[in-house]
Amino acid sequence: MTAVVYSEDYSLHDTGNHVENEMRVQVIMQAIKEMGLLDIKDIYRPNKATKEDLLRVHTKEQVEYIQKFCLNGGGYIDFDTAASPQSYEIAKLSAGGAIKAAQLVVDGYESAYSIGRPPGHHATRNKAMGFCLFNNLAITLEYLREIKNIKKFLVFDFDVHYGNGTADIFYEDPDVLYISIHQDPKTIFPGKGFIHEIGSELGEGANLNIPMPPGSTNYDYIYILDKILGPAAEKFDADFYLVDVGFDGHKDDPLSSINLDDQFYQWISVELMDIAESLTLILEGGYDLNALSRCNKNLINGLKNYKIINEEYEKNNQDSNIDSRVRNQTKKIYQDIKETFSPYFDL
Ligand SMILES: [Zn+2]
Repeated sequence: MTAVVYSEDYSLHDTGNHVENEMRVQVIMQAIKEMGLLDIKDIYRPNKATKEDLLRVHTKEQVEYIQKFCLNGGGYIDFDTAASPQSYEIAKLSAGGAIKAAQLVVDGYESAYSIGRPPGHHATRNKAMGFCLFNNLAITLEYLREIKNIKKFLVFDFDVHYGNGTADIFYEDPDVLYISIHQDPKTIFPGKGFIHEIGSELGEGANLNIPMPPGSTNYDYIYILDKILGPAAEKFDADFYLVDVGFDGHKDDPLSSINLDDQFYQWISVELMDIAESLTLILEGGYDLNALSRCNKNLINGLKNYKIINEEYEKNNQDSNIDSRVRNQTKKIYQDIKETFSPYFDL
């Protein structure tokens, strides 16, 4: 069973003429309705996260700064992060949507997907950036840790940008394994997310970055994820799986140079359901509206029908040319990761 969490109020986070705008979540919900895959009873409304929820992650100064910035009329917090007068309230709703999705999984859904905005994975404890005000995933994780007493978390992020905020918040935390696949940070915002950033102190070895060169396709992504995700997840043995979902690695997306196609989003949801058995997913980026619509259909279809799809994959998995379509750069990145993480994982 799959649930989604959504509110029409997300349009009140008014970013004006910005790629991260209200149309993004509207086209996803339209696609879900057209698809008819989800029953109306499986579409939930979020509650706003409380200030206490925010303060488990963010500093008091930062929460009050965003609140005041919005009350004073909003504008641009930095060169690319916009807020309107209602954005503080809607950012709490977006964080609350992620918490709600996690609660639904705790209550027995196999997967739940929060389709909210503003996104969150660039927000650090004390800084809003990269279209993000508060870190929705980190707020959800700390809620689960404190309120639901869950101990070990695997966070997987396949947005095309490195989730620098999430990585930074848990960088010294041995109970949170953060795995991110993203475009090579030498070539894209936020300029972090290299292989050598492996976590520190007790969290050393619990921050695993997979930086992919521009031009990477499904073949490169599947090759490397297939070798890393399953073995790392098995060794780490998490109690709960949180996924930051981004569609900006699609070949039609205006913000990246990664060339995934629609099929990747079904493959990844099937792969993750196979590994984790239950998943909480949180929307991050994705800025081409047509690609968002199609790829969300594929993602949700994968979440819902992963058992059937998996059998089909196994039957059809006889394409011996796949390996030759993987770029040599990708093979080298895998070798670098395997070597770097050899003290922690057998990849
Ligand atoms: Zn992104």
